[in-house]
Amino acid sequence: MAEPTLPTHALLELRGVRKTFRTPERHERTVLEGVDFRLEEGEIVALLGKSGSGKSTLLRIMAGLIRANGGDVLYRGQAVTGPARGISMVFQSFALFPWLTVQENVELGLEAAGIGPAEREERAAEAIDMIGLGGFESAFPKELSGGMRQRVGCARALVMRPDVLLLDEPFSALDVLTSETLREDLLDLWAERKIPTKGILLVSHNIEEAVSMADRVLVFSSDPGRVRAEVRVGLPQPRDTESPAFRQIVDEIYSLMTAHVRGGGTGAQEQLTLGYRLPDTLPGKMAGLLETIAEAPFNGRADLPQLAEETELEDDSLFHLFEALRVMGLARIVSGDIFLTQLGQSFVDADDAKRKDLFAESLLRNIPLAAHIRKVLDERRDHRAPEDRFLQELQDYLTDDEAERVLETAITWGRYAEIFDYDYNSGVLMLPEDEEEEEAGADASSPGPTAAE
Ligand code: ADP
Ligand code: MG
Repeated sequence: MAEPTLPTHALLELRGVRKTFRTPERHERTVLEGVDFRLEEGEIVALLGKSGSGKSTLLRIMAGLIRANGGDVLYRGQAVTGPARGISMVFQSFALFPWLTVQENVELGLEAAGIGPAEREERAAEAIDMIGLGGFESAFPKELSGGMRQRVGCARALVMRPDVLLLDEPFSALDVLTSETLREDLLDLWAERKIPTKGILLVSHNIEEAVSMADRVLVFSSDPGRVRAEVRVGLPQPRDTESPAFRQIVDEIYSLMTAHVRGGGTGAQEQLTLGYRLPDTLPGKMAGLLETIAEAPFNGRADLPQLAEETELEDDSLFHLFEALRVMGLARIVSGDIFLTQLGQSFVDADDAKRKDLFAESLLRNIPLAAHIRKVLDERRDHRAPEDRFLQELQDYLTDDEAERVLETAITWGRYAEIFDYDYNSGVLMLPEDEEEEEAGADASSPGPTAAE
């Protein structure tokens, strides 16, 4: 029996998509779970999420470059089973072949699609011209600036005359001005229908960029990744990034992205596990941000977009910082504002030694990995343990790379707090020297608990 025909198909439709990766000889890790998504004709949709949340994986699944483990992936109503004609991707890095000219780099995909030399040349020249690279056809990638190389990346996608364009953080490696011009040029091509493209999905970690370009902004969650919220941007193009309506949407998305799903609204600290991915940031940066929030004009409470502007930090690193302050109980985020907790205020007011104490106390209370390391070191006779021991434990939860990154972060925080020390040469963790001596002294001079009883 024929399937019931629907009046229209979405350009792309994902239903309940799931993707797991196997960590080397260990566990299955679920990167995407229950991803539902639609891209309709005529739409630009932006996807915002933390790094590592599975956005690139999702795009590669849509493009048919890798297969999902479950769920449906449909392109114009047809199941995607391999690289989909009609879908082109622009990657974050400038993955150009250094030994090929701009023209040859752009022609590559056409060649693979079996298009003859004459047409290849014509179409490549057209795409190069369209994206503002006319005159650079015979240049080599190394002769181009980062912005121009990314334009080649765009030309390489556009030359395929894609029906759907998937942009994977295409502007994030560029400076602000360069990314803005490239963004505007792409929007012009789209708005003036100079490209046949019917729908664009843009992955970004820059909220303003997403709100500038997209008709809808989706907020992606991590562990596992899925679409958590949607915000419609009903503003005409070109958008005034300073207008109150624009600012309000930016604000709303900040709130959504910093609202933590797990903890609930009770104000109680959520219980983290050993495999919790510690945010990639440094105690010094946390202290710096706390001070900024404490000072004028914020005086203890800051509007997130305003704070982002003041600190000139990338959204991604700022979100790591926010999360670090939150899990450490130093700051709280409520409806788009971040404010210092009592602990955060005490920290700001304290001198260096007292700050370390406060940090240590919070670290042992809130971060299971730090508490676990400390406990192991306390219990061992020589108060030392190789880092591999902890890496192996973490690898049950995380990929090897992530386990290393998380342990490194825990070590950095723990050393700052002086709850343990680390020898970079031997990769051994140990109790801080002064404490070790104290304990050794105590052992030698006291008769010990058994004798006293
Ligand atoms: P994002 O683009 O949001 O930063 P990615 O899709 O690149 O995230 O990665 C999501 C997670 O999947 C990461 O934890 C990454 O380590 C893991 N991952 C991605 N590709 C692979 C792979 N081929 N094998 C194992 N793990 C992978
Ligand atoms: Mg990515």
